[in-house]
Amino acid sequence: MGIEASTILIDGVWRPSRSGATFPVTDPASAEVLGHASDGDAQDVQDAIVSASTAFETWSRTTAYERAAVLTRAHRLLLERHEELARLLTREQGKPLRAARTEVTYAGDFLAWFAEEAKRISGVTIPSARADQRFLTMRQPVGVVAAITPWNYPISMITRKLAPAVAAGCTAILKPAAQTPLLAVETLKLFLDAGLPAGVINMVTSRRAAEVGDALLESPEVRKLTFTGSTAIGKMLVQKAAPTLKRVSVELGGHAPFIVFPDADPEHAAKGAALVKFLNTGQACISPNRIYVHRSLYDAFLETLEKRVRALKVGQGEQEGVSIGPLIDDRAVAKMEEQVSDARDKGARVLVGGDRVAVDGLAGTTFYAPTVLADVTPEMLISVEETFGPIAAVTPFDDEDEVIRRANDTEYGLAAYVYTRDLSTAIRVTERLKFGMVGVNDINPTSAAAPFGGVKSSGLGREGGYEGIDEYLDTKLVGIAI
Ligand code: ADP
Repeated sequence: MGIEASTILIDGVWRPSRSGATFPVTDPASAEVLGHASDGDAQDVQDAIVSASTAFETWSRTTAYERAAVLTRAHRLLLERHEELARLLTREQGKPLRAARTEVTYAGDFLAWFAEEAKRISGVTIPSARADQRFLTMRQPVGVVAAITPWNYPISMITRKLAPAVAAGCTAILKPAAQTPLLAVETLKLFLDAGLPAGVINMVTSRRAAEVGDALLESPEVRKLTFTGSTAIGKMLVQKAAPTLKRVSVELGGHAPFIVFPDADPEHAAKGAALVKFLNTGQACISPNRIYVHRSLYDAFLETLEKRVRALKVGQGEQEGVSIGPLIDDRAVAKMEEQVSDARDKGARVLVGGDRVAVDGLAGTTFYAPTVLADVTPEMLISVEETFGPIAAVTPFDDEDEVIRRANDTEYGLAAYVYTRDLSTAIRVTERLKFGMVGVNDINPTSAAAPFGGVKSSGLGREGGYEGIDEYLDTKLVGIAI
């Protein structure tokens, strides 16, 4: 991969930033520079807004069948380029190749799903009290969409937003994370090569997130913000979207509880916890951050978890057998160190890991050992603050009411996990958990066909599922006197 510095897409043309500025993109495992991206600013955003606004006039009037056909072709191209996309994902972001392949497939699922949903956009007729009146509703695209995406799922978060936008008849401006712009370029090429007309999707790569974000949000032409990222930035962007009253959907942080009830199989639950906690090296908003295990199963659960975690191999994602990649940057490692030392000081036991590690032959400095902390208490930082890294924090509990209260005692409300073989417990507890998604004996309650999203400080709106396209549609009421 050479220097790639024309990563801004305006009106169907790849070009450098107006200022000519670029920034390097590195492989977090090897510290190697993979390429360069254009460092766009507010001027580039203005160009993108003009392009998207102009394209909206024609794209919004295409048929659902034309839009579906583009998405279906983009999906086919993604499948053809699957391996190269996965390898680039691993190089740029660090996740193991197997996980990268899974993510690329998941990204494709959104193209396929919303190709179908485009054809199901429909309104209703409503009876009127007046004999000479009829009502009907139309579902119409909201307009120009600003999409801001994170680095942790750098391809699926793009298709999860752009596929429904395109399906609905919207046009869009994407600002991908500065850590992963090269994969964003390859992702947009899928749409362009599938025949998406110029200007329907535009992209401004940049490391000046605030400047680009402000230019997008201040514009009255931009009618919707869709964002995935941290809660702090998400809340700020929602505020900035208020003066022009944009539609907003935001997928933010999480602090998932993972609860193992006394009737569960502790080994099965521990295997599930080891899988979901260390997925993407813990850098997922649905990663379990607090694992509550009934005291009667506590030792058995910890024994299996520790054994599993000891077997995890840290390294570069393309190496055979690696399941733990690097963290995204030094700040992330510093956070692991802070949470572990705080937990240690307050009495937690470190069963495995607990330190930064170096990997032979790799220059990357952001590897952190997969870690299990036992006897974690609510006073510890890790019980409150999102970890976003490979640390499993385990706590015993005695009573159902107590554990539900503790599980809900967080500003976040994205995912929760429950392990029980008792149907009544499963339903009773699920109903009381204040989270947008609950996995019952299931570590992966996600699919393009299912609504993803949170409550409280974890976000607004849903992505995927039937609901996913609603975020890009307005309802127009038509009253007809006959
Ligand atoms: P993380 O800490 O996981 O990187 P962020 O919320 O900082 O999460 O980033 C998610 C996305 O939001 C990225 O594309 C990032 O560039 C963007 N972003 C960060 N700060 C701002 C901002 N002030 N305005 C607009 N976008 C921003």
